[in-house]
Amino acid sequence: MPADLQDIYPLLFSPWLLGLVGLCIGSFLNVLIHRLPQMLERQWRIDSAQMLGQEPPADTAQPLGLATPASRCPSCGHRIRWFENIPLVSWLALRGKCSACGVRISLRYPAIELFTGAVFALIAWRIGPQPAALLWCGFAAALIALAVIDWDTTLLPDDITLPLLWAGLIAAALGWLPHALPTALWGAVAGYLSLWSVYWLFKLTTGKEGMGYGDFKLLAALGAWLGWQAILPIVLGSSIIGAVVGIGMKMSGALREGRYVPFGPFLAGAGLGVMLIGLPAVLDWLGWV
Ligand SMILES: [Zn+2]
Repeated sequence: MPADLQDIYPLLFSPWLLGLVGLCIGSFLNVLIHRLPQMLERQWRIDSAQMLGQEPPADTAQPLGLATPASRCPSCGHRIRWFENIPLVSWLALRGKCSACGVRISLRYPAIELFTGAVFALIAWRIGPQPAALLWCGFAAALIALAVIDWDTTLLPDDITLPLLWAGLIAAALGWLPHALPTALWGAVAGYLSLWSVYWLFKLTTGKEGMGYGDFKLLAALGAWLGWQAILPIVLGSSIIGAVVGIGMKMSGALREGRYVPFGPFLAGAGLGVMLIGLPAVLDWLGWV
């Protein structure tokens, strides 16, 4: 590697610059979180109609992707212009309202942008000025998208969990992760099988389904990225926080009848936490080393 390229690393991978990149990626995650479940549902309806030998549903004629159609105000249909779409800045400048009809824009959009920016900056600060910081930013972005999509729809799309799992295994094989490929591989196996066993134990004893297959795939991906040693701390942390939030929501009446709190957001949050704190520090704190 030429020395002059490494000289610009402190600038290129600085917390400030990656934080700004994170704001923009957060803006993209907002679109992904909104559109991906709609795209999946639409595809399921098209596939079902085809299987039944029917015409595709009439409302699926218009193309729907991440970039088409352009974003519009859900209330008045006002087309959102580029300067109304600058992460964080536009929301503040518009004071959280649509410029055409004045309807409130959810605080969630700037919150996800700000959170993604903060996580990217933290990663740059933790990892130091090196290209590996970008790898972990990608990992974090996928987890943020999965957590919010699961919270909204109780779905963890294969379109994100499976590439995340493969990316972790490939990154380990290329020597880009702190651990070697066997640690990543056994992490994926332990992640998948641990929740799979709990699922079947629960189903055979109570007849109910406590989790979805998406949860197994997500924990498999976390095992690949963080190593098999991270599985137990992640399962413990996410179960405890998930139970506290679930009981809190049930008691406060925030949980509608027949609905359940998805497990994915807590798995993703615990994975993000272990990554940011560092696995050795987590194991040390638990007294396991
Ligand atoms: Zn509007």
